[in-house]
Amino acid sequence: MKVAIAGAGMAGAYLYRLLREQGITAHIYDANEPTSCGITSCGWGAVPTVEVQRLISRFLEPSDYELQRFREINIEGVKIKGDMLTIDKPRLIKELLDDAEVRFDPLDTGMYDRIIDATGVVRAFLGPSTIPPLLADCTQYRVRTDQPKELSINISSLGYEWCFPLSDNEYHMGFGNLHGDAEGYTLPTDIMAEVSVCCNCRAKVCLSSPEGTQPFVVGKVVGVGESIGAVAPLAADGIVYAMQTGELLIERWDDPNAYAEEVLRRYDWMNLERRGLNRLIEGRMPLLEELRAFLKHTRMAGFDMRMRHAMYFFRRMLKAASARNARPQQTA
Ligand SMILES: Cc1cc2nc3c(=O)[nH]c(=O)nc-3n(C[C@H](O)[C@H](O)[C@H](O)COP(=O)(O)OP(=O)(O)OC[C@H]3O[C@@H](n4cnc5c(N)ncnc54)[C@H](O)[C@@H]3O)c2cc1C
Repeated sequence: MKVAIAGAGMAGAYLYRLLREQGITAHIYDANEPTSCGITSCGWGAVPTVEVQRLISRFLEPSDYELQRFREINIEGVKIKGDMLTIDKPRLIKELLDDAEVRFDPLDTGMYDRIIDATGVVRAFLGPSTIPPLLADCTQYRVRTDQPKELSINISSLGYEWCFPLSDNEYHMGFGNLHGDAEGYTLPTDIMAEVSVCCNCRAKVCLSSPEGTQPFVVGKVVGVGESIGAVAPLAADGIVYAMQTGELLIERWDDPNAYAEEVLRRYDWMNLERRGLNRLIEGRMPLLEELRAFLKHTRMAGFDMRMRHAMYFFRRMLKAASARNARPQQTA
């Protein structure tokens, strides 16, 4: 079987190795739009730690990619106990691809029996999802500073700002929201005064959930990773699910429709989170079952998040959204 993978990100690179393990050497294609680190969708916080280590250890030594490990995260001033890693995502993708030649010429679909769409939000080969996607706009910076900073998240209107330590003096900081106005975002002035910026870029993350990002199979095209909405809608983590969907596909390689059903079943909590997100967009609190799905996700991710924390965070988000709506709109 001749297989092409479109997209040399986390999902495409991991699936490339899974296929090679099965004796299939896929051709891998990417769009020639490199950022300075070569990775279009950044963000290097990965949870749950044990699952990240299991997935990487299938092919590589996990400790080679672990940058920092944390036992606590500060969300909006509340310290939540947990277990989280930051990983060297550019290096992990590069070394998963190993000796693969990444092609930048147009993919001739007629040459292949199966095409894997791992193009993330672009869905270049699956085509648009039936329901319009819910995309958060993000601006991110990699910075250096000698002022120590903790792993933290600050909630804003329909989004959040993050600070992920990559080493003792290097940090990944960014901002994303659903208002689509991250373009004008710069780091706060007090932070800018004390850091040197290594690089910055923009990207979108799909928060539609698998249920809202169908179809997953179109003729001989099958999607993995963010192209099929395998991202947690309320926290926007997708690195682990990009790898997991590759495993789910390999286990059902001969039956793509069974794969699609399994993705919907496995990530049913994402579908509930997405409904909770829809409610937040409408200015309302998520329902109890949607809050429970969020707590299930955070516990799976290794965080000791309680219902009172979740309620507090979402109330803060709604308050920020209503303050934003109350501000006079700028006219051109
Ligand atoms: C700013 C930001 C921060 C994030 N932070 C985190 C985080 O801290 N932790 C976490 O777990 N998740 C995070 N995420 C989500 C996570 O990065 C993604 O869900 C995950 O990397 C998706 O992997 P993917 O391979 O499916 O898609 P992508 O990483 O988007 O890769 C898609 C690839 O397809 C290529 N491509 C696009 N169009 C074409 C085409 N026409 N032909 C061929 N190739 C094409 C792209 O160049 C890219 O290489 C973040 C996302 C963003 C945007």
